[in-house]
Amino acid sequence: MSIDCLRVSATDRCNLRCVYCHPLPDCSLIEHDEILGFEEICRIARLFAECGVKKLRLTGGEPLLRRDIVRLVRELAAIACIEELSVTTNGIFLESLAAELKAAGLHRVNISVDSIERETYERITGFDLLPRVLDGIYRAIDAGLTPVKINSVIIKGLNDSEEQITALADMSVDLPLSVRFIEYCPTNTSTRPATDYVPNEAVRAVIERKYGALCRTMMPCGNGPAEYFKTPGSAGTIGFISGRSSTFCRSCSRLRLTSNGKLMPCLYSAQAHDLKILISNGQSDRQICRFLSRIITEKVNYTKSNSLKEEFSMCKIGG
Ligand code: SAM
Repeated sequence: MSIDCLRVSATDRCNLRCVYCHPLPDCSLIEHDEILGFEEICRIARLFAECGVKKLRLTGGEPLLRRDIVRLVRELAAIACIEELSVTTNGIFLESLAAELKAAGLHRVNISVDSIERETYERITGFDLLPRVLDGIYRAIDAGLTPVKINSVIIKGLNDSEEQITALADMSVDLPLSVRFIEYCPTNTSTRPATDYVPNEAVRAVIERKYGALCRTMMPCGNGPAEYFKTPGSAGTIGFISGRSSTFCRSCSRLRLTSNGKLMPCLYSAQAHDLKILISNGQSDRQICRFLSRIITEKVNYTKSNSLKEEFSMCKIGG
């Protein structure tokens, strides 16, 4: 498996408080002076590109909260050999930023929307911002940030009703986007209990009751760990990312860089490599590249089962 994808957390700050993604209560925010500057992020990204990384994704926290994010996108898009630059966002700022991000070189966006019912959206995220997020989705499509992908996490007792699930799936009928159901992964005891997990098999059964058997399809920009399907005559697709009920460590091509420069070979890694220290110690490009190449080679040894740590915060690592 070639390791060609780097997820960069632009910030650990977020403007939503999703019930399944809360930071741990004792998990303070990273100090501003510890957060990687643009120059450091771009240098690390460029060195990774020299080591074979072709895809960059900005995430967080909420990446669009980072001041001057459009400039960061422009600088990352200019790195040679980067073929795909994308953002995972809650979409709140897309209404105003989609066109600028596209012009700066962003290729596509994943937008997190767990319900298109306003009250449920507020119950999950803590904010009554669904209309703004929906506007952001339309703007992203209009701006050509395609394919737009919607990420939805289904949580027992919150958004797992037949109406909620099919309303999300319905978006892929009229709009040219992909609605992906991501299995809830319990990350720490202060968020939702592990028993709130709803397997994608159950989500799919609900959708198939409405639309009949789903037909498997491929996405033009690659599938990653997602499996994609179409309902008859739909403009978009439905995807399932089943990280809890199945394991895709063997095909995982991602590394993660936290906003303070810790490189994680796996979401579940108990061990992280401090790249900010290497930079501040004055290591040369050649030395850092050698280090990155070693991590890339060793990634195969980091899997969910053998590097499991007890608790972590998704928004601190970068989901
Ligand atoms: N703020 C951005 C957003 O909302 O998309 C990016 C960061 S968020 C951590 C990235 C993705 O991780 C979102 O799609 C979110 O739903 C997902 N996520 C967060 N916590 C999760 C969990 N415990 N299980 C599964 N997915 C989770």
